[in-house]
Amino acid sequence: MSDYETVIGLETHAELNTKTKIFCGCKNEFGSEANSNVCPVCLGLPGALPVLNEKVVEYAVKMGLALNCTINSVSALARKNYFYPDLPKAYQISQSYLPLCVNGYVEFLYNGSISRVRINRIHIEEDAGKLVHSENGEDKTYIDFNRCGVPLIEIVSEPDIHSSGEAVAYLKTLKSILRYLDICDCKMQEGSIRCDVNVSHNRKGGPLGTRCEMKNVNSFSAVGRAIEFEIKRQKQLLADGSSIVQQTRRWDDIMGRSFVMRTKENADDYRYFQEPDIPPFEVSKQKIEELSALIPQLPNIKIIRYVTELGISVKDAEFIADNIELSAFFDECVVSARHRPKSYCDWIMGELVKYLNSHSISFGQTRLTVGGLNDMLDAIANGIISNSAAKKVFEVLLEDQKSVDEIINELGLAQLNDISQLEVIAEQVLSSNEKSVQDYKSGKTNALGYLVGQCMKVSNGKADPVRMKEILLSYLML
Ligand SMILES: [Zn+2]
Repeated sequence: MSDYETVIGLETHAELNTKTKIFCGCKNEFGSEANSNVCPVCLGLPGALPVLNEKVVEYAVKMGLALNCTINSVSALARKNYFYPDLPKAYQISQSYLPLCVNGYVEFLYNGSISRVRINRIHIEEDAGKLVHSENGEDKTYIDFNRCGVPLIEIVSEPDIHSSGEAVAYLKTLKSILRYLDICDCKMQEGSIRCDVNVSHNRKGGPLGTRCEMKNVNSFSAVGRAIEFEIKRQKQLLADGSSIVQQTRRWDDIMGRSFVMRTKENADDYRYFQEPDIPPFEVSKQKIEELSALIPQLPNIKIIRYVTELGISVKDAEFIADNIELSAFFDECVVSARHRPKSYCDWIMGELVKYLNSHSISFGQTRLTVGGLNDMLDAIANGIISNSAAKKVFEVLLEDQKSVDEIINELGLAQLNDISQLEVIAEQVLSSNEKSVQDYKSGKTNALGYLVGQCMKVSNGKADPVRMKEILLSYLML
């Protein structure tokens, strides 16, 4: 079976967090009372006319630019015709021949190297309603139309992905970009991001095999499991000499397997035609330039830069890049270049994150500045404060706008470097810990660590531990 290659493509739907729906003024809001955010347009009542929400186009163009797409200057909406109870018009307004964004790509770090997945297209469309199956024993299904007309973008990848792990990494990348652009709330548990997964197998270098599609997989872990299941199923069929039949399958995450929904479905079946109620629309060059200027450096690019240029570990790079505020702060520190990127990273990932978590606040609620952190790192580098005293300084920097010098003086944290003072401490500790001294002299060298610890205690943490150790050793050698 090793001569077969797994090929995966994803169609990712993301709900856009515009204030109103895509074709009417109804609120775009999750969790409202059923059927409270509806009007004749989103209910598809006869005679109601849709008007395209400009914000939806802007958000989609932003995602297109973030994924290196070409933005079509003229774009058109199309009707996708099918019947389902959650779709009152019996068609979905989507895009077909002239999607908003085409021919892009996204790069991200996966397994230590850069993966590049081409983006076939990004188009805008409306969401359908939601079927609510009764849970109290009555054999009924209710319909909530609040979600009808909620704006979606569908991001269609080329079949460039080759494992479930890479697919999940790709999805996580899309999610972090959507969050950076602030165009989707990314709450997977509320269905804000959903995925259709295509899996096929072909002989290496040969033409693409027949694909099977799994619909509506809505968590990262479910995507991973659904793909693993499908790879195993297809490889088994191929090993048995059977052929793969084109199918649409439904993934059941609780059962851990997928089931056939329907076979052989093609775009023709939807009888796409241009939406007659909304004319094709233009996105001006100027608009694209304006939106392009609003796009920050994106998390996937930051991760690659942190790891390959700054020598930060993948885990730390992913954590910092995932947090817009933290990564902006880290970037500023790196630009200041007063200390190594790794030092900044260690303090951010260590004391800062610990503080934010224990106080349940975000970075923006602290008073830490790049200058403050740099001054503190200077004080450590110049031997003015010990690492443990620096932790106390750092905590004050987070809460108060005081200078590092002020804090060191107020808290009396300056390190003791004076040899004669250190010698007094050493003599005091050695005379009151005779057993440890004997232990050390009889070969138990770890007694030295204990003695250094005692000296630090006596000095209230102010002794320079390196010098302290040297002085202790000089006495013990006598
Ligand atoms: Zn409406």
